[in-house]
Amino acid sequence: MTKRVVLIGHPVAHSLSAAMQQAAFDRLGIEAAYELWDRPPAELADAIAELRTDEYLGANITIPHKERVVPLVDRQTDEAHATGAINTLTKEGKKLVGHNTDVAGFKVALDRLVGRQKMPRQAVVLGAGGGARAVVYGLIREGFQRVVVFNRHLHRGEQLVRHFGRSAAHMDLRAMPWHESIIEAELAKTKVLVNATSIGLADDASPIPAEILTPELMVLDLIYKRTRLLHDAAAAGCTTADGELMLLHQGAAAFELWTGQPAPIEVMTEALQAARADGVSSAEGEPSAAAAG
Ligand code: NDP
Repeated sequence: MTKRVVLIGHPVAHSLSAAMQQAAFDRLGIEAAYELWDRPPAELADAIAELRTDEYLGANITIPHKERVVPLVDRQTDEAHATGAINTLTKEGKKLVGHNTDVAGFKVALDRLVGRQKMPRQAVVLGAGGGARAVVYGLIREGFQRVVVFNRHLHRGEQLVRHFGRSAAHMDLRAMPWHESIIEAELAKTKVLVNATSIGLADDASPIPAEILTPELMVLDLIYKRTRLLHDAAAAGCTTADGELMLLHQGAAAFELWTGQPAPIEVMTEALQAARADGVSSAEGEPSAAAAG
């Protein structure tokens, strides 16, 4: 029987994950089909309940459900628990286990961004959603000493900081209100900037004005396309990276959890690049510009 693996988000049009995971299943001869389920928050609990039947191997969870799915699983791994966000589900019989493979994906992306330089100790994170939680956890684990989170709705940034209270007790993790002047002042003390908002995903907007970007910054945008932010950052002389490497490695880790087999990274990379070349440039959970427009 062909097993089913689903990506649950809202919306989930044009997901690159589908291309990447299906190519991996097919290459290894695993009888599995990767499906996209567009489920608004009100339908999330029913969708998760359906996964308990035998035909499902597992799932990916994406924007905006990564935090909402936490109370719906039977067990969480340490990383899911630590972040308070789940992006991958596996099965133990009818039981659902929540994982966070974004943490592993972010680590690869951060290491590549920093390259041979010394790992910095200060970062600014824009956003406080499920993706930002993996980023902040990754920065804490990497030994960062000061991480400032800016979010449109300050209370969500504060919630994130409270969540990490104990694991961040040795360092300075704080949420600050989203004001350009405050972001600018923080960037002046920082070497790493991560965009974990969805600004720039479906349009050409940037979360921050180009003028406040300085050449010393290393800028990672979790969105997997060349966003306005990345364009501005490159023009300002910054080192830049988009979210492709994080997407690839969170996906590879999920594949290994579902199948117990090493992920065919090259096949997944090729499938991602082919999907991008075909114009699938939107992130999971968001319509592409064409679909939105
Ligand atoms: P969530 O829905 O959990 O969070 C969305 C975040 O974006 C929140 O911080 C939200 O702020 C902010 N935001 C959205 N719209 C606006 C706006 N118009 N103005 C200001 N802030 C805004 O989503 P995720 O955290 O799961 O994903 C966030 C982004 O990161 C997406 O683009 C996603 O594709 C990308 N991502 C990429 C990954 C990869 O592997 N490359 C992995 C994980 C995420 P507020 O709380 O105020 O609403």
